[in-house]
Amino acid sequence: SKFAGRATFTIYDPHATGQDRSGENLSELLTLAISDQLVSVAYQPIFDLTSGRVLGHETLMRLCDFDGTMISPSVFIPVAEQTGAIVELGMWLIDRACGDMAEYGLGSVVTVNVSVLQLKVPNFSLRITEVLARHGLAPQKLAIEITEGSDIFLEAQAVRNVERLRKLGVQIWLDDFGTGFAGLTWLRRFRFDVVKIDRSFLHDCQTSRGLSLLRDMVGLLRNLGHVVLAEGVETEEQYMLLQRLGVHLMQGFLTGHPVPIEEVEQIRQGLVA
Ligand code: C2E
Ligand code: CA
Ligand code: CA
Ligand code: CA
Repeated sequence: SKFAGRATFTIYDPHATGQDRSGENLSELLTLAISDQLVSVAYQPIFDLTSGRVLGHETLMRLCDFDGTMISPSVFIPVAEQTGAIVELGMWLIDRACGDMAEYGLGSVVTVNVSVLQLKVPNFSLRITEVLARHGLAPQKLAIEITEGSDIFLEAQAVRNVERLRKLGVQIWLDDFGTGFAGLTWLRRFRFDVVKIDRSFLHDCQTSRGLSLLRDMVGLLRNLGHVVLAEGVETEEQYMLLQRLGVHLMQGFLTGHPVPIEEVEQIRQGLVA
């Protein structure tokens, strides 16, 4: 197998949910996360199907409780968005991602997930500019991922920030494409550098209906001139299907789990400058 022997570290327990923390406790934990070093980042490789090489990495936030239990992002991100803690945590993560990119290299791009709340902060784009400058990083090496389900186009300040970042040269990626209702409207209003198709579409491909949907979705995006990324690639069959469909980029457990910086394979092998 082409991917056999690739490291698949599982030091993060995917089943940990932080269920034993009530919402109130969790929001308290989030206020201590940075100072008490409970928060960290994991990087997942983004694989280029055309070149057969890793293009870059997505940054994912990790939170552990005082007892070492990992709390799933699907549990703590919504709480951090409710309390506003995501603004500070998000800036911390962007700083870390840019620092790691500058110090170790993570390929040609490092992506970060950004919530609407962050984009609504008036000086968000300015703070990004400062972070890039502090690390001496070219704006093109950073991409922000905006989730299709979010309603940024209802927020004038958020749109202004996205437009400023784009002018600066920061890449703008559309995440979870196909899961919201606004997908096609978004494509009309905005020029995304990469569109990430939500993993549910790939996982539905066992049925002919699911397969048709994915094929037509990729066709539509390609015709519009978008770079298309498929998320959640777990098997070689899926990989071969994506290659047949003309998908440009992919991400998933097949080509690498999210891992801490020390375990990023290219860095371990000294392959990325
Ligand atoms: P996402 O942005 O869609 O990130 C991809 C999620 O899919 C990650 O889960 C990743 O570990 C998982 N994944 C990657 N490859 C595969 C695969 O082959 N199969 C399966 N089943 N899953 C795969 P994770 O790290 O638990 O993050 C979940 C969500 O939490 C993210 O979804 C994102 O929406 C949010 N999130 C994570 N970090 C941040 C952050 O720093 N800021 C914000 N605002 N949201 C974040
Ligand atoms: Ca994402
Ligand atoms: Ca996604
Ligand atoms: Ca998501």
